[in-house]
Amino acid sequence: MKYKRSLLKLSGESLMGDKNFGLHSTRLQQHAEEVKKAVDMGAQVAIVIGGGNIFRGYSRLNSTIDRIGGDYMGMLATVINGIALQSYLENIGICTSIQTAIRMDQIAEPFVKDKAIHHLEKGRVVIFVAGLGNPYFTTDTAAVLRAIEIKADVLLKGTRVDGVYTKDPEKDKYAKKLKKISFDMAYQMGIKVMDQTAFILGNENNLPIIIFDINRKGNFKKVISGEEIGTLVSK
Ligand code: UDP
Repeated sequence: MKYKRSLLKLSGESLMGDKNFGLHSTRLQQHAEEVKKAVDMGAQVAIVIGGGNIFRGYSRLNSTIDRIGGDYMGMLATVINGIALQSYLENIGICTSIQTAIRMDQIAEPFVKDKAIHHLEKGRVVIFVAGLGNPYFTTDTAAVLRAIEIKADVLLKGTRVDGVYTKDPEKDKYAKKLKKISFDMAYQMGIKVMDQTAFILGNENNLPIIIFDINRKGNFKKVISGEEIGTLVSK
């Protein structure tokens, strides 16, 4: 196994399946099974979950809800997703713990780095919700920060494309996949798959990030084992 401890970033959208809103049972089940394969081989897995399938701060409903209110709504959306994912993981025998950046004691533990590491060492999957607990951030940035804090070996960004391409592969058939790029190249290309703040933080803290297709069966285990799938962004 190449990456003993990893942080998996799942976007809210990855939970929608073919719908354009909310949660899709098949997708949750698939993600849970992917995580189980990795846990069964001894990997330590933490997850940061997004909320875009329910609410995004910047796409707030109207001008009555300001950016800050919208961002808190987005953070709460990640909690809903985290509870759903927890249920699917527990249902197939995986022990989990949810840690939240906004206190809600009946639902989740507050985020405590050492406690998160302790859970991981015991073989539990830790699901981080509520992003960083601050408006004007994203769960991508939260994922990088949490990965650094728990000393993860890698951040794995699960998406619906299998890596970074020279052009948009969904629009241009001549787009070529890049196996490896530097953080500098990622800024220059202005790639949209993660936000720039996340890349800057990853670069400054020397955290490798792999962007890969989470919807292809077996990919999560493959990437943890060290198979070169997706695109590696590193120094
Ligand atoms: N959000 C925030 N601070 C954070 C993390 C998230 O304000 O630290 C809000 C923000 O409004 C964001 C929403 O929560 O749009 C949902 O998160 P995100 O868009 O990152 O989810 P994803 O795209 O991964 O589904």
